[in-house]
Amino acid sequence: MMPGTQVQRARINLNKLMLNTDNKILVVGSIAYDSVETSAGKNSEALGGSAAYFALSASYFSRPSIIAIVGSDFDKAHLNMFKSRNIDLTGLKIKDGKTFRWAGKYDPNNLNHRETISTDLNVFEDFMPNLKTEHKTSSILFLANIQPDLQMEVLKQTDTKPNIVAMDSMNIWIQHNKDDLLRLITKVDIIFLDESELRQLTGIHNIVDASKAITSLGPKVAVIKKGEYGLLMNSVNIDNSFSLFACPALPIDSVLDPTGAGDSFAGGFMGYLASTGKDLSKICSQDLRKAAIYGTIMGSFTVQGFSVDRLKLVTDDEIQGRYKDFEKLTTIS
Ligand code: AMP
Repeated sequence: MMPGTQVQRARINLNKLMLNTDNKILVVGSIAYDSVETSAGKNSEALGGSAAYFALSASYFSRPSIIAIVGSDFDKAHLNMFKSRNIDLTGLKIKDGKTFRWAGKYDPNNLNHRETISTDLNVFEDFMPNLKTEHKTSSILFLANIQPDLQMEVLKQTDTKPNIVAMDSMNIWIQHNKDDLLRLITKVDIIFLDESELRQLTGIHNIVDASKAITSLGPKVAVIKKGEYGLLMNSVNIDNSFSLFACPALPIDSVLDPTGAGDSFAGGFMGYLASTGKDLSKICSQDLRKAAIYGTIMGSFTVQGFSVDRLKLVTDDEIQGRYKDFEKLTTIS
């Protein structure tokens, strides 16, 4: 039996694991104003973008720094909201002109399927990331969904290879910038792709085989997102064998808007890994599995609101509550 003080210390350590601002994550990606249409309604010109969702989600576990660009039309209230979540904005460039706009429409019968209606790059058009000294030594780097050559540029500007480099991408880059994307994939440790992107990139239908094809390019971990059906994670062990892990999404009865669920998933996943403070070589299969569950939980909050409406209001107790819900959902006894 643990004496009282030790029990207390163990609890305190557990809480610390949830939020560890010593372990910073640098994220490069988009910050956008999104207009989306889902079966729950329409929402125009609301805060979005891969870096916005990622950073907000990761902020519940660690301290994210954003490398991105917005226009002079960017609402100060959104800057303040990021700051209130302790997100470092010193790498955010504000340029004369309009913020990136994206519009999408979801299939009312299949929320895993969406159509891009428009993409207006605006100030993103000639964005060239320029890392500040303090960002060049970040130990964890997340290359959120943007043009692969910009992702590569950020990686090149780091002074030493970050301890963990992870990336995400999307269909348009697979279609139009495949060579750049393949070059980048060889340099990352963890890759997040959705199931259709994985098939598009590898030309292999079976996702286990396709995920192995991706890890053979370099990444040690491939996380394949399957929207409302959860994920498959394939990680390469020291002896080069593979470990597979699958988990469902948390069943949610009122999905309003799935936009950003993938980025929020990655934010929870990477944020949790950062909070452990471990080097890549020390991260074990249990850490990766827990990261996948925290990612799943963060995605479940995002889909419950339009834009970041729900994600920005999450509490630590709610995260822990959903962790317990997840355990109940997936255990037999
Ligand atoms: P997700 O639903 O996780 O795939 O992410 C959706 C987010 O990606 C939206 O908030 C968009 O603003 C952003 N997005 C869409 N297209 C692009 C693009 N071409 N480059 C960067 N971000 C994009």
